Amino acid sequence: MITFYPGPSKVYPQVADYAAEAIREGIVSLNHRSAGFMDIVKETVRLLHDKLDIPADYHIALVSSATECWEIVAQSLTAVSSLHPYNGAFGKKWAEYAYKIKPPVSLSDADVLCLVQNETSNGTQVSMETLAQFRRDFSALIAVDAVSSMAGIQFDWSLADVWFASVQKCFGLPAGLAVLIYSPAALKRAEEIGENAHYNSLLFIHENFSKFQTPYTPNGLGIYLLMRVLQQVPPIGTVDALTKKRATDWYAFFEQEMMNSPFRVLINDPTTRSDTVIAVQGNEQEVNKLKKAAQQEGITLGNGYGDWKNTTFRIANFPAITDEEIGTLTQFLRSY
Ligand SMILES: *Cc1c(COP(=O)(O)O)cnc(C)c1O
Repeated sequence: MITFYPGPSKVYPQVADYAAEAIREGIVSLNHRSAGFMDIVKETVRLLHDKLDIPADYHIALVSSATECWEIVAQSLTAVSSLHPYNGAFGKKWAEYAYKIKPPVSLSDADVLCLVQNETSNGTQVSMETLAQFRRDFSALIAVDAVSSMAGIQFDWSLADVWFASVQKCFGLPAGLAVLIYSPAALKRAEEIGENAHYNSLLFIHENFSKFQTPYTPNGLGIYLLMRVLQQVPPIGTVDALTKKRATDWYAFFEQEMMNSPFRVLINDPTTRSDTVIAVQGNEQEVNKLKKAAQQEGITLGNGYGDWKNTTFRIANFPAITDEEIGTLTQFLRSY
């Protein structure tokens, strides 16, 4: 069985051994305030800076999910209200969660701009050029949901103050852990707001992580697996080149070889197409038939999501997927 589901997605096969190792060697039973555990957290944070090329002055914390990060941005980094320009289901959900905590106000009073870099639901992305434009036009904080692109493509980290991703997409790991990255300006904002009413208030998280600890008993297995996978993966520049090459190939494949099929790339404008999630459109019946046929060949395609639930399928272009698996899927589509 091979999977192209864009989350939860294929995990690196080595994760099976890393998980066995974590249990056999008692790592999952370590007290989370012990030196042994703190060393793992410290090394994981070091590897994130190193492998993803995150600026040295940007802080890193580990939390449970991207959804939790949406709430942290609203409760700890938003003074009045946030702004949510979005074009898909995840951007919409983020706005809904945020507005429950900080109800919307008039545009000019918003003090955090919230952007989904890669909209997993419809296969679009915000380019670094567009993000740079937002950076020039908007003087307050910028927070970026990069759940389905972080560790798959390279970012210019300086273009935003907060970046986060859960690990079940491009990191090739099981769900239940998220990476939260925040700039000195974001920390300063948190200090000005002074919000400390929650177990996951950013100030409290920051205080704990500066000692390589966590406010609550963390997902120790997940953190260990993240550390082991980061040791194994190449630097982000190398991963970025591979992801983009594969994305170019996928789009060319649908526009050329699949030209006479009932399927079309959902997004017409090549400049907004995602590098990591390829959304393909067709009528409901055709999409259903294709997904079933693929399943019979041992290939799981991603369902559509939100407004595009029944009329699209999605193909994850995540680093854990191999060239051989991509070859199997293209061969299946070609002969379909
Ligand atoms: C998957 C996904 C999420 C949700 O992540 P959780 O770990 O389930 O909270 C949020 N945003 C985007 C863009 C996603 O793809």
